[in-house]
Amino acid sequence: MNAQRLSERLTRVAAYVKPGSIVADIGSDHAYLPCYLIHHQIAEKAIAGEVAKGPYESARNQIVEEQLEDKITVRFANGLQAINHEDLVDTVTIAGMGGPLIATILQQDLDRLATVNRLILQPNIHAKAIREWAIMNDWKLVAEEILQEDDKIYEILVLERGKMKLSETEALMGPLLIMDTQNEVFRLKWEKESSEWMRILDAINVAEMSPEVQLKRAEIEGKLKIVKDVFSA
Ligand code: SAM
Repeated sequence: MNAQRLSERLTRVAAYVKPGSIVADIGSDHAYLPCYLIHHQIAEKAIAGEVAKGPYESARNQIVEEQLEDKITVRFANGLQAINHEDLVDTVTIAGMGGPLIATILQQDLDRLATVNRLILQPNIHAKAIREWAIMNDWKLVAEEILQEDDKIYEILVLERGKMKLSETEALMGPLLIMDTQNEVFRLKWEKESSEWMRILDAINVAEMSPEVQLKRAEIEGKLKIVKDVFSA
């Protein structure tokens, strides 16, 4: 992967950026995504935010190498602290992290989203945390995608401002993804998740039945039922 040829995962994230956008990519590592967005004339300007020294320096070097200093600013900052209202960022991308971390990054600096009208989020796991964050903060899903690359399964969630309500099933599996239960990657994801839950159930079934274990067992059984019901509907 490089700034010219992105991974399939990041190419699909880029596909949801509207032409002419001002984008902040939070947790940008090599800044491949912002470079790609500028090279392909999708974004007008971009900010690459990084909290770790090594990835921050990689991002800076990349921008210099690509001669994109006039279009992309790299900032060493925690989460949304990389952006200010004057940047007029309208689109935030956060990719390649867990859903709970993405939700925490958003929640920590809600005021910095004042000018933002589109969030393109690609959690590696636990997308549910993002859907729950969105409900609480008045963002609604306008697109969801699931893809497989190198034996890993990724989800992309695109949010715009607005209210939504989700059932427990929709929060777990995605209200838009659930509409296509024939999607092979979607099926595979939930087969894998279910096998993992069953493995945990087997392990806790031999453990002492403390209230915590009982709670965990009920939670897993509930999720297994949700998935089973979706695919047998
Ligand atoms: N976004 C790139 C991608 O999808 O390929 C890089 C993903 S990499 C696995 C996650 C990056 O997010 C790391 O470089 C890490 O330093 C950065 N990161 C984690 N937490 C962050 C935070 N709170 N603020 C900014 N960057 C963060």
